[in-house]
Amino acid sequence: GMMMVLVILALGMGGMVYVTWGRMLTPEMEMRRALLRGEFVPFIQPIVSGHDGSLVGAEVLVRWNHYRSGMIRPDLFVPLAEECGVIVPITRELMLEVARELSAHLDQLPPEFHISFNICPIQCHDFTLLEDCQTFLSTFPPDRIRLTLELTERVLLEPTEITMLLFERLDQIGVKIALDDFGTGHSSLSYLQQFRVDYLKIDRCFVAMIGSDALSRDILDGTLDLAQRLGLKTVAEGIENQEQADFLRERQVAYLQGFWFAKPMTMKEFSAYLRTAPEL
Ligand code: C2E
Ligand code: CA
Ligand code: CA
Ligand code: CA
Repeated sequence: GMMMVLVILALGMGGMVYVTWGRMLTPEMEMRRALLRGEFVPFIQPIVSGHDGSLVGAEVLVRWNHYRSGMIRPDLFVPLAEECGVIVPITRELMLEVARELSAHLDQLPPEFHISFNICPIQCHDFTLLEDCQTFLSTFPPDRIRLTLELTERVLLEPTEITMLLFERLDQIGVKIALDDFGTGHSSLSYLQQFRVDYLKIDRCFVAMIGSDALSRDILDGTLDLAQRLGLKTVAEGIENQEQADFLRERQVAYLQGFWFAKPMTMKEFSAYLRTAPEL
């Protein structure tokens, strides 16, 4: 819709969004207005065990439910929200909303249910994230929910003193770290150790190689080998068919995620899903 075009324009023009009634709003003002109106909503996508197919967790994915344009995909506004810092209160709102919804359905969740949020590099420069994680975890009985933060490999973090301390504190309160989009960047073993990474999420582009030519399959096998040799649990995302699911199960990938199992859904749809999920 209109807003998508506007956001794309704003990305290109480095600043201003025109709204139809003639006032000019910066993307930041537009997003702050949306935040006050509760337009940023969490969608949630189930993650299943590669071992037995049971539900083990879920990833939270933000959507902007714009009052005129409808649902806006995160890649169209998350970069802008990061640039002006609004991603911080957006993530906080998501965490509060997800904590509220999950606590109403705790009895239907498997033990140590994993819930993951995506975070941007700027959220690693102070301790706000630590407080938000503490607030999230304090909603639940101890060890009932495993909170994971997903950090992309596309942009490597600088190991500043504050950033290192943040990850140490997160580790101390039991927050897990997943390296997202694994295979697309250049993280080293020391990088993984420095930031106390617990899980590697194999990027969707590798999963898409399954069933294609031999060279692509070798690339995929190489990435899976590397993940397994690093001794970290792996998650494969973007699984869209049976062949991909079978291939990854054979290679002992611990966790599986993709449209083949379930698409991202609203929290309301998720509570219905919990009632009908056959594996539970
Ligand atoms: P991501 O973290 O790699 O998230 C996975 C994306 O793949 C999601 O797109 C999801 O809907 C999509 N996906 C899941 N299963 C399949 C599948 O089987 N096939 C295909 N083709 N796609 C699948 P989405 O929701 O549009 O999110 C795009 C990106 O936006 C995310 O990539 C993440 O980097 C970012 N993002 C989403 N929510 C947040 C957030 O709350 N905070 C931050 N900082 N970034 C977010
Ligand atoms: Ca992710
Ligand atoms: Ca990813
Ligand atoms: Ca850790």
